[in-house]
Amino acid sequence: MTETVDAPAATGIPHWIGGRRVDGGSGRSGPVYNPATGRQTGAVDFATAEEVDAAVQAAKEAFPVWRETSLAKRAEVFFGIRELLHARREELAEILVREHGKVLVDAVGEVTRGLEVVEYCCGIPQLIKGEHSEQASTGIDVYSIRQPLGVVAGITPFNFPAMVPMWMWAPAIASGNCFVLKPSEKDPSASLWVAELLAEAGLPGGVFNVIMGDRVAVDALLEHPDVAAISFVGSTPIARYVYEKATAGGKRCQALGGAKNHMIVLPDADVAAAADAAVSAGYGSAGERCMAVSVIVAVGDVAQPLVDAIRDRIPKVKVGDGMDPSSEMGPLVTQEHRDRVASYVENAPGEGATVVVDGRAGVPEEGFFLNPSLLDDVTPEMKAYVDEIFGPVLGVTRVATYEEAVRLVNDSPYGNGVAIFTRDGGAARQFQFDVQAGMVGINVPIPVPVAYYSFGGWKSSLFGDRHVYGPEAIDFYTRGKVVTSRWPDPATSKIDLGFPQTR
Ligand code: NAD
Repeated sequence: MTETVDAPAATGIPHWIGGRRVDGGSGRSGPVYNPATGRQTGAVDFATAEEVDAAVQAAKEAFPVWRETSLAKRAEVFFGIRELLHARREELAEILVREHGKVLVDAVGEVTRGLEVVEYCCGIPQLIKGEHSEQASTGIDVYSIRQPLGVVAGITPFNFPAMVPMWMWAPAIASGNCFVLKPSEKDPSASLWVAELLAEAGLPGGVFNVIMGDRVAVDALLEHPDVAAISFVGSTPIARYVYEKATAGGKRCQALGGAKNHMIVLPDADVAAAADAAVSAGYGSAGERCMAVSVIVAVGDVAQPLVDAIRDRIPKVKVGDGMDPSSEMGPLVTQEHRDRVASYVENAPGEGATVVVDGRAGVPEEGFFLNPSLLDDVTPEMKAYVDEIFGPVLGVTRVATYEEAVRLVNDSPYGNGVAIFTRDGGAARQFQFDVQAGMVGINVPIPVPVAYYSFGGWKSSLFGDRHVYGPEAIDFYTRGKVVTSRWPDPATSKIDLGFPQTR
């Protein structure tokens, strides 16, 4: 169905090391596609361990000067980055559409949410402040300071090629670290574009580096003795691998994994509003969001009206090329992923689920498209319930009580996002208390926290104990130091061999 052509040499996608583009020398590369046409548009270089080392060395060399750069100057650079990104966000969004496939308005939304993290980091002088206790003991003051770790690295997934890297590089660099990014090999161009923009904003060469590649590059970062910390976002098996390997090597690590987000709809909910939310959060970005709703848990007699309302809305979702302003949902990222997602619809009847809407019908000839699909009567043993499908397939699980709904959420190995739809404030408050997940929405289907809180799930959705962006990111990318200081009056100085005590 889809024809792939070899990319011309001019569309090779290189690394960014020490403030300039560097062509890869490994002879290995990966194809990059436009998912809306199914055609190959580029080839991304895959780094060797030596190329990763060159990026780490560039970061290491830049670190002493960047670390000494005043907070005022760092804030000024961040305000410059903010201005440029804000002015050129459509340009970046178009790159996302061409390599990821999401629709333009969604891509602009992605850049805007990432930009909020950059804006938060403009406040680094305030964010990194320590504390000071005068006269903690007689003549002694105690104060705390936070210092950067050195060279830190980020490894990111395909589904947010601009925003997720911004969750990492912005707080890391604002805190005084130098950064090596290994973006997804499926849609790498956004990172190169950002590297050029950061240079234009005045960030010194070597403070931000991009290394393109696959597992070889990831392993080289995990094993590198000069990399102090690793931030990872991706699927759960790789997150677990990265966390175990990084921490075994003594690195600080936060590794965010996959998700299976439940949306609970109580019998008193507004059915139309819940159906609107389910369609928006289930099929937005073709379901390729770690905070996408993928299971609707319908409690009691709300189930049938809710399924009917979602089914009625699906034909109105306009599926097409993300650059077409009328499109509301684009293609999936690759043919392979599209076929994997479609297999859940194909296998649903065999598992005992009901296919209410089959998205395999009526897709465009070209590209990696799958239309929205709706499965009903999905039960917890089915693969459609257990697996993270990561595509436009919504499943409805019917339960009799609120308690059963909460048990389903809490039995899930994941704990990223969860939402409840109800008009009952008491039930919503109880839910927020009961539920085991890192991000909870009350009549909000995609509860991604604003930039001045932190983002992270529980259980197999996050390995490590620090969430990304917000205050926890400043903590993650810095080490604390406490200084106990005395400026003695020479007249009172004496020898005292006892253990220091407060007086
Ligand atoms: P992925 O795990 O396949 O890839 C993520 C990164 O790991 C990429 O840079 C990739 O090159 C690298 N990688 C892949 N296989 C590897 C291996 N064997 N060894 C070392 N490195 C490897 O994830 P993806 O398909 O790009 O992204 C989708 C996944 O990311 C979904 O599971 C989604 O839920 C998850 N995700 C989670 C969050 C979150 O905040 N929890 C956010 C976005 C995406």
